[in-house]
Amino acid sequence: MKADVFFMDLEATSRENLPNKLARLIKTAGMESVLKENDLTAVKVHFGEQGNTAYIRPVFIRKIIETIRECKASPFLTDANTLYVGTRSNSVSHIHTAIENGFSYSSMDATPIIIADGLRGKNETKIEVNQKNCNHVYIGSEVVEADALVSVAHFKGHELAGFGGTLKNLGMGCASRRGKLDQHSNVSPKIKRKTCIGCGECAKHCPGDAIYLEEKKAFIRAESCIGCAECIVRCPTGSVTINWNQTVPVFLEKMMEYTLGVLQNKKDKAFFINFITDISPNCDCLSYSGSPIVNNVGVLASLDPVAIDQASADLVNRQTGLPGTELKANLNPGEDKFKGLYPAVDWQHQLEYGETLGLGTRDYTLIPMKTLAYKA
Ligand code: SF4
Ligand code: SF4
Repeated sequence: MKADVFFMDLEATSRENLPNKLARLIKTAGMESVLKENDLTAVKVHFGEQGNTAYIRPVFIRKIIETIRECKASPFLTDANTLYVGTRSNSVSHIHTAIENGFSYSSMDATPIIIADGLRGKNETKIEVNQKNCNHVYIGSEVVEADALVSVAHFKGHELAGFGGTLKNLGMGCASRRGKLDQHSNVSPKIKRKTCIGCGECAKHCPGDAIYLEEKKAFIRAESCIGCAECIVRCPTGSVTINWNQTVPVFLEKMMEYTLGVLQNKKDKAFFINFITDISPNCDCLSYSGSPIVNNVGVLASLDPVAIDQASADLVNRQTGLPGTELKANLNPGEDKFKGLYPAVDWQHQLEYGETLGLGTRDYTLIPMKTLAYKA
């Protein structure tokens, strides 16, 4: 059966501005059907790395929060800490970055920010999924604990996944640090001997007792490593790095298996929104944003996480590529913009595999919202 995906363009009139149009979109698409009174509702967003400018504008997130409150549910904003050292690798710097990027208590109508995997990324829940690549996945506990989930994703290019949308916002975005490392790599981190100063910070915090020092250099005993990634964020010199050894198809499959874990206890309790705006070539985790590869398209909302990403990709591919951006090939309408950006990545695989797992369908009906006419 086809899934409904509702679409609003970005035309506003004196009768309805864009935030109000957004509220109408998400109500029409059925957000109210997944929320009930007092539901603690995780609104999964990406606050943007410091210096990034393509993340979703807070004014729209505020409107989504208002609409959730109209359903008498209790929203909180959330994201999980990053795997790499940056401005969102623990709750303190993460919330600080969020506030700097405009998600303050006052601008978000007193909505709390609760980082899904806690102060240092260790607050995780192990969920059994028993799939091809993962038997278990590790998800930020606050997302698991929430009664309902509203995913608000910025749809854009992504260097490893081809594109990032709802599925990535869930599978990667809700994973704890251990879960993120598990998706990116199947071996323990590695230590750059040249820059290691032998301070022992990594060994001190390693829960697996897997790190030892020899002649003022750290070494990892792979057989004792539990893949928690703590050493990566503890190292003051950035000497502990990820072994990027996962092939793209396995990475994408793991990401879908993680998405399955995120949604496991959210049957009929999850709703998905994609902003196809500021369509940068790469992730909002970078400390800058590349020029948008196509013009702004609009916003989509759906109860189906696969259908919304498929529809978003199709809409982007229908556009004309903008000159002078990182997109150097496939600029014509109908040509594959994500292949144009990342020829080695088969982005369709995340959708195909997501469908195989029963996350949703790639078959959808796009339902455009009418723009309300100007007042006479
Ligand atoms: S990933 Fe975790 S368990 Fe493995 S070496 Fe680093 S701190 Fe230790
Ligand atoms: S924390 Fe970094 S610099 Fe210190 S011993 Fe470990 S790898 Fe070397």
